[in-house]
Amino acid sequence: MGSRKADAIVASRGTEKALPEHTRQVNRSLILRTLFHGAAMSRADLARVTGLTRVSVSRIVDDLIAEGLVLEHGPSSGGRVGKPSTSIALNPHAYHVVSLDLSAYAELTGAIMSLDGEVVHSMSVPMDGATGPALLEKVCALASALVKRSTVRVDLDVGSAIAAVVPVPVHIANDANAAALAARTYGRPAVDDLVLVRIGQGIGSGVVVGGTLVTGHRFTAGEIGHVLIDEDGARCRCGRRGCLEVVAAVPYIRQLLAEPGASATVVLGAAGRALGRVLTPVVTALGLEQVVLSGPEDIVGGVFLEEARATIEEQTLAIVTDALDIRVAVRGDDIVLLGGTALVIAEELGIR
Ligand SMILES: [Zn+2]
Repeated sequence: MGSRKADAIVASRGTEKALPEHTRQVNRSLILRTLFHGAAMSRADLARVTGLTRVSVSRIVDDLIAEGLVLEHGPSSGGRVGKPSTSIALNPHAYHVVSLDLSAYAELTGAIMSLDGEVVHSMSVPMDGATGPALLEKVCALASALVKRSTVRVDLDVGSAIAAVVPVPVHIANDANAAALAARTYGRPAVDDLVLVRIGQGIGSGVVVGGTLVTGHRFTAGEIGHVLIDEDGARCRCGRRGCLEVVAAVPYIRQLLAEPGASATVVLGAAGRALGRVLTPVVTALGLEQVVLSGPEDIVGGVFLEEARATIEEQTLAIVTDALDIRVAVRGDDIVLLGGTALVIAEELGIR
């Protein structure tokens, strides 16, 4: 917010030709971001909401219209007296993002996504046990097929090997970080401080603080799956015992649920409590507003979520948890693809 005000002051001095390119980019991103998160609005409303001058808004909007990123509707009649105003909206199909989800174990999934996160077209290919170069070849083939299929300009989210194959910008994130960005950018309401937990074959999380993804020293932020939860617990794939993963990851839970006489309430409740214990210091230390759980609906909804919530509430101050929103991710199946899209529009267009 502080920088927004400063931008507005710079822009209002009327020497826009002399504005540094950086400020122009900041103002352009501010307008794109406002249109992305809001409804269609007039240039005057856009100026009011962003704090930029009308002259500045009009100039940037004209550029965005010429580029195809923004569409102009109207003028709306509305029966009002005076000059009718046209409304401005983001064009969700100005660019398409090709997003690949390489986090599954048996197949590679990719999709052409619109800027507002709709799946335009999706494709999956079985991995057939491929590893190393053979696997990379499959990834590149999937990316190329999707890029060819898209009818508009394309940006892409996947590794640098693919950058050599397809002539578009490439951005990479791990699946939990991508999912956290999806929750930040496409979540309603938009929340600036959140942790997203991916509960799958393992457990990972992505942390967003102040609207920015936290990667941490050596990119280990959010790696909660191997935090010790039970000293006498089962052996984990990391070689240690009693990690969160061996208590609350999907294979472990499914195995327990399959045992004769197993109670779903007991199994899911214990897993949810274990997750709650690991999340409590995270939520408290960072002052988070939202915890989003992403995983199979039959596991992470219901008892699992409720016990995680109750545990966090029990183990820290009420002022930390009073307004804490703990929820299951919407569009959990697409969340990594959606996260790839969020990453690309943040890096390429400044929409966060
Ligand atoms: Zn472990």
